[in-house]
Parts: sequence; C-alpha cells; structure tokens
Amino acid sequence: MASELILYDTMTRSVQPLWAEDGENFRFYCCGPTAYAPAHIGNFRAFLVQDVLRRTLEIVGLNPIHVRNLTDVDDKTIRGAQSEGKNLRAFTRHWIEHFQRDAKALNMLVPHREPRATDHMEQQIELASRLIEKGLAYVAGDGSVYFNVSAYPEYGKLSRLREREIATQKTTSAGRRNDADEYDRESVADFALWKSRKPEDGDNFWDSPWGPGRPGWHLECSAMSRHYLGDGFDLHAGGIDLCFPHHENEIAQCEGATGKPFVRHWFHNAHLMVEGRKMSKSLGNLYTLADLTGKGYSPMEVRYALISGHYRQPLNFTLASLQSSRSALKKLEKATETHLDAGGMSKEDFKALAAPPFPTEWGPFEEAWRGLANDLNVSRAIGGIFTGLAQLDEGNKGTGTLENALKALAGILYALGIELYRKGEETPVTVPEELQSLARERWQAKQEKDWAKADLLRKRLQANGWQVRDRKDGYDLISIST
Ligand SMILES: [Zn+2]
Repeated sequence: MASELILYDTMTRSVQPLWAEDGENFRFYCCGPTAYAPAHIGNFRAFLVQDVLRRTLEIVGLNPIHVRNLTDVDDKTIRGAQSEGKNLRAFTRHWIEHFQRDAKALNMLVPHREPRATDHMEQQIELASRLIEKGLAYVAGDGSVYFNVSAYPEYGKLSRLREREIATQKTTSAGRRNDADEYDRESVADFALWKSRKPEDGDNFWDSPWGPGRPGWHLECSAMSRHYLGDGFDLHAGGIDLCFPHHENEIAQCEGATGKPFVRHWFHNAHLMVEGRKMSKSLGNLYTLADLTGKGYSPMEVRYALISGHYRQPLNFTLASLQSSRSALKKLEKATETHLDAGGMSKEDFKALAAPPFPTEWGPFEEAWRGLANDLNVSRAIGGIFTGLAQLDEGNKGTGTLENALKALAGILYALGIELYRKGEETPVTVPEELQSLARERWQAKQEKDWAKADLLRKRLQANGWQVRDRKDGYDLISIST
C-alpha cells in the first residue's frame, strides 16, 4: 500500500484506517439518487465527496469496487410517473440518463456497478423471506411485510437512537407501523419491507409470496449491496440525513438476516446550506447543475465549490463561492502552465500524468497529500497544492525532478477530480461593468415600481447580449449567446 488513508467512521465515532478485508478489493456501497427529478447540489455534494474517496482509494492502491444504486421504484417515482401518465420504467430512465449526464459533466467516475432496484426483485423478496423465517419480520393482514423493530434489540446502534430517545421521548418503537419510504425519528416504528399493492400504484406491482406489491425503499440497498459486495463489506456511504432511518434499517435487515456484521466503516457527509439557509423548494434555492450552468458557471467550478469544505462540516454554498472557485481554478491553470513550459511539457502530457502508477513520494505536494490521506481534508489538500506550486516557483522541487513534481500534482488533482484545461469548458465572459450598472439601475427602478424605466433598461441589456432573470431577492444576468 502506498500510504495509509484514515477516515472518520460514524459507528465508532472515531477516525479509522481503511483496509480491504479480503486483501484484494476495497468494497464500498453508496446510496444513489432517486430517479424522479434532477439531482440538486445537496445530492451532488454527497456523490462528489464519495467520488473523491473512490479516487483516493485508487491512489493508495486499495483497488476499490464502487457500487451505487439507482432507486427506480418508491413513493416518489411512482407518484411522478403516475402524474405524467408514463410507465415507471420510461419515467425513471429519463431521470437516470439526466443524472448520468450531470455526473459526467461534474467529472464523477462511473461506479463499477449501478444496479436498479426493479432489476433486483428476486434478491429483495429473498431477503424479506429470510427475515420472516427468522422471526424478525411479519406479514400484515393486507399482505404487506414489516420488520419487527422490537424483536431486534440492536436497532438504532448507528445513530445511537436509543440513547437519544430515552432522553427525548417515550413513544419509541414497537406497536406502531410506518410504511412511508422516508420518515423522521419521531416515527420510529416497524418499517415496511414489502408494501402490498394499492390502487394509487397503478400497474407498478410485482408478484411475491405475500401477493402483489413492491419493496419498501430501505430493502433495495440491503439486497443489492449483499448481491454485489457480499454479506459483509468495507464501507457504506451516504449523506448524514440517511443515517436514520435508512442506514439503521439497512443494518437491521442485513445483520438480522445473516447474523454477520454488515459494514465495517460508515462514511457520512454533512449537509449543504445555500446562501446560509436550508435548501428548500419554497426558498427557490434547490439548485440543480443546469441552474448553475445557466448562470454561466462551468461544471468544474461547481465541482470545486462543492468539494472545497471538509465533508464533515456543513457547507454553505453561495454564488460568491462559485466566483472564488473560478478564480482559484484560473490561478491553478496559470501556475501549472508556467511549470509545464519550464519542463517542456504540453497540457496533454500533463493530463496523461493523472493515471496509474500513482506517486508514492509527493515532493512539494506532500502537504496536499497529507490533507487527503488524513480524513479527506480537501481544503487542506487545496491549500497544499498552492503551497506546493509556490515552492516550485522558488525552484524547490523537493528531492525529485520537475517531472516528478508535476506527476505528484497531477495525482492530487486526480484525487480531487479537478481537470485543468478541460475542453468545451471555456470560462464564460464576465458581465462588463457598465452593463452591471445598468442592471443595478433596472433593479432599483423595479423596486420603485417604475416599470417603464425598468423595461427600457431590460431591453438595453438584451440588446447587449444579456438577459435578466429575476429572483425573489435579486436577479441574474444570463448571456444570450450561451
Ligand atoms: Zn441506501
């Protein structure tokens, strides 16, 4: 192994070294997107942090096998398909392809497996049957199957639910049932493994030993992770909001059925705020990638902004942070170019360096590597990149050659998924100052309800190639040519 990688584990609440239990591949599973709408940047923060982990695992030689599921049946997908009068498969295919395009634009590596829930009915039914046999699940009168939380004393060990519950409420667990796919901790109750067919499900049902129905959302991750990674595997990832109930339920289902430890390491990232506020539809701040590229930002700038903070800290995403990402990336490209010129290398040569075998010595970028290897501290790694470049500016290549130093830099950038000099990613032109001032004047006129003036200024901006799009609390200028 090239060097040790340590990471915080939610179960033990401590930083632990990562290693592959089977000695060959580091097997990890990520809860993937639900295919009913475009993923928003909060979803992407989780997937990008996992992508950085995957890349870093490759660099340390842990040969990761990365599985990320696609939820293509649940309350939301069925509701969406029904309301559009589409069949579920066609409806989810559209959103899966949308997600995959966004993921590619954000330079996310494709997981080794991307299983869909509806392609794994057999495994889900088998798991639910096993839990019934073991007395951990029961069939309700309507043909639904529920996990019996009170029969599983370890329930809640990941989120330490019982400790918290004791202090906060007495209405935990047994005696109540919950068949919604998502619920909060106030509703700890027996959860659905299989939901019997309801009229609102339309044609979306599958046969089972308990009659027609569909799996509960939590079941798919247990069934598919077992199917692709085995009864126990190295790491399971997701946003912190999945810790309860989703991951608790996954543990209960798998450990209940197999009697073996499910996952050795739990990796959760903190949530994302937008402009200091919680993301929500009503605030209009549930940005998608298209919203941000529509404002003139490149996917690489979005990626940079979303990975910049420490994954364990909530990240406050702002449009200003996209501006800083833009200047940081420009600075990085410029500084790297100087050294490429000095070494007689082209940009293409540099790109080719971001491939195995990865360095084991990091020269001037040692600090950047330490940041990554130490609990994926991306901001420390980025700081280390700039310090390393500054050292190179001073002619300090460490002990190696300039080419070694550039190989190390390419390795760190690979881990972060930052691709410099990306084709088709010309940085959009910034709005000229005199047009910005026209836009401000227009906004002011609008506030004063001087509609004629506001309209006139809008037309002038338009004639200059900029469209004004108003938001609740401001406006955006969008280049008409892009
Ligand atoms: Zn999951």
